[in-house]
Amino acid sequence: MNFNVLSQWLVDFVATYPKKYNEIAIWREPIIACSPADERFLRLKEITVTDHALPADLLRDGKTVVVWFIPFKFHIQMDNTQGKHPALSWGRAYLATNDMINRIGSAMKDFIEKEGGEAALTPATHNFDKKRMVSLWSHKHLGHLIGLGRYGTNCQLITPEGCSGRMGSLVTDLDLGEHPLVTTDELCLVKGGKKCGKCIKSCPVDALSEEGMDKTLCYVRLRENYQLLMEPDGLPETTSVCAKCQVGMPCSVRSPLPTY
Ligand code: SF4
Ligand code: SF4
Repeated sequence: MNFNVLSQWLVDFVATYPKKYNEIAIWREPIIACSPADERFLRLKEITVTDHALPADLLRDGKTVVVWFIPFKFHIQMDNTQGKHPALSWGRAYLATNDMINRIGSAMKDFIEKEGGEAALTPATHNFDKKRMVSLWSHKHLGHLIGLGRYGTNCQLITPEGCSGRMGSLVTDLDLGEHPLVTTDELCLVKGGKKCGKCIKSCPVDALSEEGMDKTLCYVRLRENYQLLMEPDGLPETTSVCAKCQVGMPCSVRSPLPTY
């Protein structure tokens, strides 16, 4: 199997998903990138935490790291631009997308195994260390290292299809080569030396600055939003959402800077 076959499989999976699982179609066409599971991933321990997992921790003979991004449709994003609290539709979209990403991971693993390979994955969430507020398998950092996107001032990965969506990843022992979607250094306007900072102004708790994110302020806000809005509506505790810095931004639906 080559990378193009896997890429088309993902596009088809997402296109047929709403009908198959009786879900509302809230997603645009997915994008995917991959790279050899080489020494670049050793940087994960420098740029995140020393106990961040490496590809070999998931699959000992892993040869390729694959990361995909599922962008939300524009109307779902716009629903969440109103007011300082998240829309219920955003909370539901978050849950539905996590379910889909977990299903994509399992189905992609099965697809790879049918093609004679092996694959290993982690869930879309639940690899998060709450005490240190870090992910021990960060799809965003992986996406940065393989060229799916670049970090924005909003601490999200800006991809060619914007930053408003969800990500998943896996490691396989198939050799799928190097297929980045981004080769330039920056896709965020501020990081690229231009004027913006809209995400900083959009944050209701001032958790963002050009220097980075105050993770504690953000996390507390997500929990408050759950208790105030999502829990009373019967949504599960994992619906800790906000994303005001990811919707209605110049980087929400596409990259504001060239990707090559
Ligand atoms: S809103 Fe502007 S400053 Fe913030 S991440 Fe997007 S492009 Fe960068
Ligand atoms: S998710 Fe919300 S609280 Fe967190 S940084 Fe973005 S706007 Fe601020």
